Amino acid sequence: MKVAVIGAGPAGMTAGYELAKHIKDIDIYEAGPSVGGMSKTIELWNQKVDIGPHRFFSNDTRVNELWLEVVGKDYEMVDRLTRIYYNKKFFHYPIKALNALTNMGIFKAASCMIYYGLEKISPTKDISTFEGWVTNRFGKKLYQIFFKTYTEKLWGIPCNVLDADFAAQRIKKFSLGEAIKTALFGNSGKHKTLVDQFAYPHGGTGMVYERMAKFIKEKGGSVNLNSPVKKVITKNGVACAIELEDGTIKEYDHIISSMPLSLMVARLPEVPDNIKQAANSLKFRNTIIVYLNVQAKIYFLIIGYMFIVTILKWVD
Ligand SMILES: Cc1cc2nc3c(=O)[nH]c(=O)nc-3n(C[C@H](O)[C@H](O)[C@H](O)COP(=O)(O)OP(=O)(O)OC[C@H]3O[C@@H](n4cnc5c(N)ncnc54)[C@H](O)[C@@H]3O)c2cc1C
Repeated sequence: MKVAVIGAGPAGMTAGYELAKHIKDIDIYEAGPSVGGMSKTIELWNQKVDIGPHRFFSNDTRVNELWLEVVGKDYEMVDRLTRIYYNKKFFHYPIKALNALTNMGIFKAASCMIYYGLEKISPTKDISTFEGWVTNRFGKKLYQIFFKTYTEKLWGIPCNVLDADFAAQRIKKFSLGEAIKTALFGNSGKHKTLVDQFAYPHGGTGMVYERMAKFIKEKGGSVNLNSPVKKVITKNGVACAIELEDGTIKEYDHIISSMPLSLMVARLPEVPDNIKQAANSLKFRNTIIVYLNVQAKIYFLIIGYMFIVTILKWVD
């Protein structure tokens, strides 16, 4: 059996890795020069850097087992610290009650508590949107001054049309009440958002996918870099071959795609109009990541720090 996998990001590489355990004709086609997709690790100034911060965390034991199978003992646990720079103050993310309330000042903090109390008396009923879900758990005021601005700026979608699933995934069953309890009595380990350590592989996040690529090749498969797939060819409605940008056509029994869905649909023949429209309506949010090369001398560190603060102020 011959299988082609489009894209060498985590999804494509994991599919290829699992299949390579059973069959040898696995060919991965990746448009870029390296594996890992958005989770790759690149060389920069003789350093390895990830594409922004990448933390591995999953509730799914199958995912954790697979990760450990690939990484083995070559990882370590790292303390996590994520903060949102908002209104010239650093807010812990996930939210920490004491930090959030002191950052806001006494009046705003008091009004947050009042709105939280009101929410407890008369809870928001529609929790199908991000807005409803967060308001229900944190109160209207905290939602407005913290979650709404940050989320809309980050994702570019109004919170009242953003699905609640989005919040549920990131904030889990956390609420202002829980945050206060945690501040007073500590974290009992119940809340996933409060996990303050994460597993990080030696050599960067991309190491996982580099190892998977090595495994696939050892098992007889191939990982073709700089090989963008132009389109998928079908016969009687079944995918049977791919055409590369250079015009090469390769036949396969199965084709797995992990490239962006909208691009994939645009490259398939005979797609019904409603599917085309649905795919075209999907939007992308771009991220620009700035890497700063700061010399390890104290005055450079100070200049670097001032530079970052200036940028943050400007972005804000
Ligand atoms: C700044 C940032 C931080 C993140 N932090 C985290 C985190 O902490 N934890 C976490 O779990 N996730 C994080 N993510 C998300 C994570 O990176 C993605 O969920 C993951 O990379 C998605 O994997 P994927 O294989 O589906 O897609 P991708 O990683 O996008 O891989 C798709 C691959 O397909 C290739 N491709 C596209 N078109 C073609 C074509 N025509 N032919 C061949 N190949 C093609 C692309 O080049 C790419 O390599 C973060 C993402 C970003 C941007």
